Order: sequence, then structure tokens, then C-alpha cells
Amino acid sequence: MTRVTVWNEYRHEQNDAAIREVYPEGIHGAIKKALAAEFEVETATLDEPEHGLTEEVLNHTDVLTWWGHMAHGDVSDEVVERVYRRVMDGMGLLVLHSGHFSKIFKRLMGTTCNLKWREDGLNERIWVVNPGHPVAQGLPLWIDLPHEEAYGEFFDIPTPDELVFVSWFPGGEVFRSGAGFYRGRGRIFYFRPGHEAFPTYHNPEVQRILANAVRWVTPTTGPAPDFGWSAPLETAREASSS
Ligand code: ZN
Repeated sequence: MTRVTVWNEYRHEQNDAAIREVYPEGIHGAIKKALAAEFEVETATLDEPEHGLTEEVLNHTDVLTWWGHMAHGDVSDEVVERVYRRVMDGMGLLVLHSGHFSKIFKRLMGTTCNLKWREDGLNERIWVVNPGHPVAQGLPLWIDLPHEEAYGEFFDIPTPDELVFVSWFPGGEVFRSGAGFYRGRGRIFYFRPGHEAFPTYHNPEVQRILANAVRWVTPTTGPAPDFGWSAPLETAREASSS
């Protein structure tokens, strides 16, 4: 069974009663609940020692999900490096909403990951632009989230390897809201919705997308590459034979 570690900054829920009301068990608690039927799920949060992401935890994690917003700077570079190495080695990473500005996502993308935003709580319409993609499995052609924060292009990421969702907002913005990337042996999926003030992670269609995305980034059993000088596989012919 795929082992998932749901990581959450877990600051908004502790500092703000209105947000605690939306996510009484934390955003990580809601995501864990959404994934628990299909995966073996543990949680980890910023204020645990080593942010709950020790070598041992990461070595037993197939897929890590990441939600952060107000405290990206408090995540230690050592832990970021540890997560980066695991992704290169094949661990899947699902980056959520404001996690676009996390150290780990910026490191993996190599760009600023900046975007436009507006917290107006109007609806978000998420269009499936790749209906054959595994992350779109079981979805209608579009879904509406009645209350969300708006993000807008330009989203400064590398051109995604796979684009699955594009969002439209009533202010006129569009946004690449579901994007897949390959890095090393690992896969990364970015999924946009999930502002802390709205009950997005309680939405059944969003929960389906989270499960689909976890499945898509789950490590495969492909070969481990080797690098550097390498002996020829065939015996070379003699240079001069007469
Ligand atoms: Zn937000």
C-alpha cells in the first residue's frame, strides 16, 4: 500500500479561530481523512522536530503532500535538501495551493513560482484540459468551487510536462491549476485550490483529485540510472587488424 505523508505548516489553524472552524483537525487532518480509504497516511507538521520529516520518515514515504503559506521561511534548508534528494530518488510530491512559494517547490522548478492573487472568495471553475490523464479520472469536464482565492497568470513555472487543469475566475483570470513535472526519478504534481479560509479540502471532487494525484506521483519500479564513466557494453573491435 502506498505510504503517504501529509505535511502541513499548521499555523493558520492554530492562530485564527475562523480558520480553525473550517479545519478543526488542521488542513493535514482533512487531507488525511480524504486519502485514508486508499492509502496508508501519516501526518507531519512544521513545529515538530525536523518538521516531522526525519530521514526515517522520508525513507518510508512514497508520496509527500505539501501545504504551506505563512512560514515558508521557517522550513530548514537541511530538510528541504532531504526532501529534494528523495524526490530525485523517486518519491512523489504533491504541492498544494500556496505551497507554490515553498522552498522545495521553487528548488525543484528553478523559477520564482510567482503569480497574481486576490482573496475575494468568489467561485473557481476548474476545467479538465487533458481528459485522458490519470489525474482527471472520474471527473466531469469542469468543476466549480463556490468560494476560493483567485490566482492569475503569469504563473512563473517551467512549461509543465503535463497540464491537466486550467482554472477560470470571475475576475477574468485564468491559471494553470493542475500541472505535472518529472524531476530525476520522481514526479511532482501541483494542484492550485486550497486557500485556508475555505472548505476546499472537504469537497468530494477535490478529494478525488488529491487521490488521483497521489496515485500519479507514486514511485514506479523503473530502473535506477547510473551516472559518470561507464565501461562499454559491447567488446570493442581491435583498431587495426591485418
Ligand atoms: Zn491562499
